[in-house]
Amino acid sequence: MQLYNTLTKKKEEFVPLEPGKVKMYVCGPTVYNFIHIGNARPMIVFDTARRYMEYKGYEVNYVSNFTDVDDKIIKKALEEGVPAEEISERYIRECKKDMADMNVRPATTHPQATREIQGMIEMIQDLIEKGYAYEVEGTVYFRTRKFDQYGKLSHKNLDDLRSGNRSLLVSGEEQKEDPLDFVLWKPKKEGEPFWVSPWGQGRPGWHIECSVMAKKYLGEEIDIHAGGEDLIFPHHENEIAQSECCNGKIFARYWLHNGFLNIDNRKMSKSLGNFFTVREIGEQYDLQVLRFFMLSAHYRSPINFSREIMESSKSALERIVTAVSNLKHLLENASTGELTAREEELLAEMKEFRKKFEEAMDDDLNTADAQAAIFELVKFANTHGKEDSSVLFLTAVRQEIISLSDILGLLVDRKEENLDQEIEDLIAERQAARKARNFQRADEIRDQLQAMGIILEDTREGVKWKRA
Ligand code: AMP
Ligand code: ZN
Repeated sequence: MQLYNTLTKKKEEFVPLEPGKVKMYVCGPTVYNFIHIGNARPMIVFDTARRYMEYKGYEVNYVSNFTDVDDKIIKKALEEGVPAEEISERYIRECKKDMADMNVRPATTHPQATREIQGMIEMIQDLIEKGYAYEVEGTVYFRTRKFDQYGKLSHKNLDDLRSGNRSLLVSGEEQKEDPLDFVLWKPKKEGEPFWVSPWGQGRPGWHIECSVMAKKYLGEEIDIHAGGEDLIFPHHENEIAQSECCNGKIFARYWLHNGFLNIDNRKMSKSLGNFFTVREIGEQYDLQVLRFFMLSAHYRSPINFSREIMESSKSALERIVTAVSNLKHLLENASTGELTAREEELLAEMKEFRKKFEEAMDDDLNTADAQAAIFELVKFANTHGKEDSSVLFLTAVRQEIISLSDILGLLVDRKEENLDQEIEDLIAERQAARKARNFQRADEIRDQLQAMGIILEDTREGVKWKRA
């Protein structure tokens, strides 16, 4: 499997540190609001990378953090007059709901920065002892000049950056030895959350979080580190500096970065009025459509979001779902018994689509071509699934569509919908039983629903239900 590595600017064959295992870290969101559809892109594409690697037999240890201490969180907390923790915990909960609706699997571990402060203090102390960091009046900085590989990820000309940054130095930063030095620990300001450290009360800088959490949950050397391309510099460059200077080892072998999502060909921003949260899109579309849309471009290319493209993604996804459900209908009256010779031939032909799918995914996770392979398979299914096809044939074709879609995290066998219908039918039956004063049957149904994890609520508008 080839992956494009930002570090070497090349596609490279993926070879894990430990055979059969993948240690992967993906920078997660800062939790001060509902996640926006830009944040959803790394979640969906790297969840798909994880699913594909698992499909290939790797055991993937997937770590993705929540940045739960940050200026934006503090600002929001002050606006609402609540503790910062209340804001971050609320939006972590909401983020997890959105992830579930996009069929993004929970990470193996979702560490939170505020729970790892001790580890951060220890790493900073270690860096000071090794001469890679220095303290000035309660602020600790990383000494970038001491790490001669600084800049290896972003391939920037550091001298230009240094001279450019010198004139841009903000007040209060004159104490830095070098304009590219960055903060590891900052002193607290009035009203901000803080922790006690050897350098006084304060809080960690953003970059140190990820170095510490990656080390704690994955080890000093990891296989893949990923995130949006805006994180290459300075965030990931700084993570490399911190981790490699502290641990004396190569931090991550493969650096993967997703391109940006634009809206109507413009940068998404609140001031342009083209800013959407995942929740808002979820009110208009099944979030499977959003997932399908995200995977319709290569993850490294920019992707353009628009109403038209969501509409076309919706009908494209619907084509797959319809093919699967048509096969189900055909199965109801299909003949049992052996595959015909022609069907055997067709099933051998069908292997071609999986091969194409794998080739696309092996080529730096080309999900666009992988989707194209699924559409060829759908066309094949529509052409060859017939009234007189055998159960064996129809089942094999149906399973193949479901299985390939599932690797991309696309749910195309609408069990959920059928289940919802079943629940609604049971509720209607229970209402009818109650009306007919058949309380025994009504109770039976209530128990049955309870066993299915359904909670009923009698409201003025009628019976409502939710999953426990
Ligand atoms: P943040 O909460 O800003 O740290 O972002 C969390 C993740 O979302 C990071 O990996 C960002 O690179 C990514 N991200 C933010 N905005 C976009 C966007 N418009 N398109 C793609 N990825 C984005
Ligand atoms: Zn990070």
